[in-house]
Amino acid sequence: MPLIVQKYGGSSVADAERIRHVARRIIRAKEEGNQVVVVVSAMGKTTDELIGLAGQVSERPDKRELDMLLSTGEVVSCTLLTMGLRSMGQEAISLTGAQAGIQTDSVYSRARITGISTKRITRELDQDKIVVVAGFQGISEEYDITTLGRGGSDTTAVALAIGLSADRCEIFSDVEGVYSADPRLVPEARKLDEIVYEEMLDMAALGSKVVHPRAVELGWEYNMPILIASSFNDNQGTLIHGGVSMEVRNKISGIAHDSNIAKVTVIGVPDKPGIASSVFEALAAANISVDTIVQNASIDRITDVTFTVGRNDLDSAMEVVKSVAESIGARKCVSDNTVGKVSIIGSGIQSAPGYASHMFRALSDQNINIELISTSEIRITCIIEGAKVSEAVRTLHKAFELKATEV
Ligand code: ASP
Ligand code: MG
Repeated sequence: MPLIVQKYGGSSVADAERIRHVARRIIRAKEEGNQVVVVVSAMGKTTDELIGLAGQVSERPDKRELDMLLSTGEVVSCTLLTMGLRSMGQEAISLTGAQAGIQTDSVYSRARITGISTKRITRELDQDKIVVVAGFQGISEEYDITTLGRGGSDTTAVALAIGLSADRCEIFSDVEGVYSADPRLVPEARKLDEIVYEEMLDMAALGSKVVHPRAVELGWEYNMPILIASSFNDNQGTLIHGGVSMEVRNKISGIAHDSNIAKVTVIGVPDKPGIASSVFEALAAANISVDTIVQNASIDRITDVTFTVGRNDLDSAMEVVKSVAESIGARKCVSDNTVGKVSIIGSGIQSAPGYASHMFRALSDQNINIELISTSEIRITCIIEGAKVSEAVRTLHKAFELKATEV
């Protein structure tokens, strides 16, 4: 019998009525002849509310206690959903992350799954039950409850699907799938029938919020197909998979953007071995993830290094970089928190020339200045003025979709 893992996000289980609606969908999947494991997020804005409460009680809530607290949000939704299923005559059982065998390291608030012991789930499935697992959480070797980071239920779902050798993982939310650009910015954005892991990872990491990047990464590593679809209707979603994309019509799959970044430049850096590593090692040690990195070609053995970080990390990044700059003899550090980035993503980029020039032309025609450029085999990213990000997304969507094959 096929085994599927379904995940329902917070808005899909926001109230009793939504929970009953989801229960009916799950039963339908079971009646279609599948074994079904379900992963749920906390109801609606529960996680935010719990974080808010913790902040009212304590200025700096203890990390272990905070994880224990946040894990309760998913326990509420998984038990209620299970009650709903049972009231409809369906055998079902709820399990916390720990009961479901999800083992993690002990890094509170962003724990990594280290292993899954699927015995309990399998036993329940064998008794013909639907198993409902609390997302976003696990248990450390010391038997402490951990959470996997915001949005972590997606990761729970994909990890369980892999651990159970499921046929596929289905992630349901209030979004119908992956779009060629954010539909709020580009109303004519197209829903993609499919996208390959690598492209999706770039889309997810670059600000498309439909699925957590870590979940896509895991799916890619183990070749687990992930369907992204809405729980509010039965429209076809987007399948993330590893095969060759059939969307040959347009070699650009989508336009991703992120308005929430900042740029740091270290000016007047001596050009010699070890300089970049001392800057970025210090940032890594402070747990700051760095995105686009650009180093200029040096003139008279002096160069500049520029990189971007999430806007929330700017203050800490500047603190770190200033202290390193002194020790490596750089002239000064400057930052700019008014930048944003926009990217074109598509496997076609690596095999056909002309994408970069087409992108730069489209932006310049709109008088949008490009401050930095970075590329990978399947992506071209431009750092631009933050206030122009929406316009840039619309411009590029038009430039690449309508003229798709003539690039
Ligand atoms: N409830 C958690 C959050 O809001 C986890 C999740 O929704 O995936 O981040
Ligand atoms: Mg959520």
